[in-house]
Formats: sequence, C-alpha cells, structure tokens
Amino acid sequence: MNGHRDHPVWGCIADDLTGATDIAAALVAAGFRTTLTVGVPERPLPQEPDADAVVVALKSRTAPRREAVADSLAVLHHLSALGCERFWFKYCSTFDSTPQGNIGPVTEALLEALAEQCTVLCPAYPDNGRTVYQGHLFVADTLLSESPMRHHPLTPMTDPDLRRVLAAQSTQPVGLLPHAVLRAPEGAARDHLDKLTAQGIRMIIADTTGNEDLAVIERATRHLRLITGGSGLARVLPPPRAADAQAPADRIETAPGPAAILAGSVSAATLGQTAHARRYLPHRKLPMADLRADPVSTVAKALAWARDHLDPSVPVLLHSAEERMEVEQAQQSLGATEAAALVERALADCARGLLDAGVRRLIIAGGETSGAVVSALGLRNLRIGPAAAPGVPWTSATYAGHTVNLALKSGNFGAPDFFTTAQEALR
Ligand code: ADP
Repeated sequence: MNGHRDHPVWGCIADDLTGATDIAAALVAAGFRTTLTVGVPERPLPQEPDADAVVVALKSRTAPRREAVADSLAVLHHLSALGCERFWFKYCSTFDSTPQGNIGPVTEALLEALAEQCTVLCPAYPDNGRTVYQGHLFVADTLLSESPMRHHPLTPMTDPDLRRVLAAQSTQPVGLLPHAVLRAPEGAARDHLDKLTAQGIRMIIADTTGNEDLAVIERATRHLRLITGGSGLARVLPPPRAADAQAPADRIETAPGPAAILAGSVSAATLGQTAHARRYLPHRKLPMADLRADPVSTVAKALAWARDHLDPSVPVLLHSAEERMEVEQAQQSLGATEAAALVERALADCARGLLDAGVRRLIIAGGETSGAVVSALGLRNLRIGPAAAPGVPWTSATYAGHTVNLALKSGNFGAPDFFTTAQEALR
C-alpha cells in the first residue's frame, strides 16, 4: 500500500455520464479518492496528487461506432499521460448497446492500444439485481430480454446471451468465465482466463451470481491492465491505502437552496418514481405535442410555473412522460433520435433556467438526459459526494460562481421514493 503515490491507480472511461458517476461512487466507497471529468479533455488532465482514480465521462453509448472508439482512445491517451496503472471501460450493468456496438468495438480498440492479451467483461451488479449466469444477463428475476430494458428507447436489449450480443458487435471470438469455475478452489478462475487467453480469446464474459463471485473475479484479474464492466466489480477492489490514511472520500460542499427534479428517463424505475412524486410534489409535464409545436414557449411556460413553486423544502418536478406509450407514439411520428433530442434540449434549457432562478440542487433522471443537462450547463468537473441511492452519488460543481449539487440518476436506479428522499443524503 503506497500512501505517497503520485499518480492514480485507476483511469476509467465511462460510456455515459450516470455510468461515470456510478463508478466514481463505487470507487469512493471502496476508498479511492476520485475525480470526475466530463467529455474528452481539451487539454492534459491536471495532476492531482491525492487522486487515486480518475473517471472521464463520455457520451459514447449510442454515438456512431467510429466516434465512440476515437473518443475512448483519446481519453485512454490522457489517462496514460497521468500515469494511471490500470484502466476500466465502464458501461451499463444491463450491457446497454446497439447491434453495432459500442461495447465490442471500444473494448477491442482499448485492448489493441494497451497491447493487452485479454480482458473480462463483467457487467454484473448483484446489489442492484444485475447478475450473469452461463453468459445470460438477468435483471432481478427475469432475463434481460424480458426486463423493461427490452423497451429502452435507444438501446433496446432483446437478447439476454451476452456472448451472442458481444460477438455480433466484435471481430473476435468471445469466451466465458463460468459460474462453476468461480466456485472451484482458489486459482481456478485465473487458470481458466490463462487457458482462454492462450487460445487467442481476448474478450471473456464473467458470470456473476452474487458479490462473492465479484471477489473471486477481482482476485483473478489483478494481472489485467484493462477491466471492462459495470461498477459492481469496482465495489470489491481492495482500498489503495491503509484505512487510517484515508481522507473522507465523500465530503463535498453542499448548497442550501431550492431543489428541482428533471426526469427525462422513461425507464420503469423512473416512471414509478415520477408517479410516486406526483402525489407529493408540485409537478408539471412537458407534453410532446407542445414541444413539437413550440419548444421555446413550452420551456418558458414550464420555467414560469416552476419559479412560482420554488420552495426550499419541497422540490419541483418537471418530467417528459407518464407512460411509455407516449414515448412510442412520439418515436413513431418523429423518429427516436429526433424525439429524444427534442426532450433532451428542452430539459437542458429547463435546467439552465432553474439554476438561473435560484435552484441550487438538481436531481436528473436518465443517462442521456443527464449528459445533455451537464453539457448545456457547461460543467466539466464534478466532485463525488455521498450516495443518494446505490450508484447515485450527490456531486458538487460550480455554476455561474455558485456551488450547485447534482444527483445524476441512471434511469433504472433508485427506490420508488427516490425523488422525495434523495436530499436526505445531503443533510
Ligand atoms: P435512461 O437512463 O432511463 O436510459 P435516458 O435519459 O438515457 O434515460 O434515455 C431516455 C431517452 O428517452 C432520452 O433521450 C429522452 O430524451 C427520451 N425521451 C424522454 N421522454 C420522451 C418522450 N416523451 N418521447 C420521446 N422520447 C423521450
């Protein structure tokens, strides 16, 4: 354990913003002092002597494949220049991707760039109900393809067999680190990885049915410079230094002031949270028909309404849908990309208007939505603070000279009462 390390242990490349905050939170929980940067850095990343891990958030999950690969390699270059020892390609625990990628192409490109022989793909996050058995991904007790993910607006997941999903996106064969090997005596998992690597198999899906499997995978992969997967595995990393040398990794500045919730996710969990919050909080929908007809005045009216309802003790809720059917209708008439862009732009404009009106805490639901908001606000650096829910840290940033707190929630994260209780973690 080196208490005086002058470079980070881990450099993480996340394919979306809420994925980045998720793994940053996991690293903080594991004892790593962690910084988060948004977007491909325009200049060399600052050498922060006390950072154990650096996470860079991209918006590459649904980007064209070539762009996703180029951005990921550019970030790898920046992280290598910082002296990072190991690298993590972070994607969603539900393996969110399209038939073209980008998990396969980015993983292959990173392996090549690092001249590494193999990596594991470990999306599992058992504490959030994501497990993998015989290469098949489960969301709680259902196969991925029968979970709400099959209806995702941008990355519908209709095949639960990750070996097949990955093979379709890749040029290389895909292997499996099966459950039976993970449960065999210590050393079997490493032997299995070595055997597959000797056969030229460079991408190996890891089964994981519980946290005990993550511990085995973590020990079996310490020789690999590239790990890929969700944040579940990051939670079991051994801490970088002795506990008594630990700075409180999750302390951030908190901003007192009114709070607002912007929900652009239509994932099942967020729709449930929105339904719950509508019973307790002032709320307003941005109807798609209005956005199509006149986005500027729709946002202006929503902001005028929100200003009238700002109250330091009760957040206001602006959301984009009550039911998935509305999304399907919008996608049929506008196309999925155009519909998503319209909503993302509107919610980003709302975020700016709300902060300008004095809101100091924003809860944003949806990965793409969060990315659109943070980029519209021009925020590049976030400090990671306490968890509002598993995988959802509060963060702090500076906007127009003020400290603001943001909780960026991946659509499917959080309990039904997340919107009404998230702020408790900041008190
Ligand atoms: P999640 O984290 O649940 O995947 P995202 O924000 O990443 O959430 O993705 C949801 C996408 O659905 C966003 O691009 C958002 O703009 C889009 N969307 C939200 N509401 C609607 C709607 N009413 N019609 C069409 N698309 C919508």
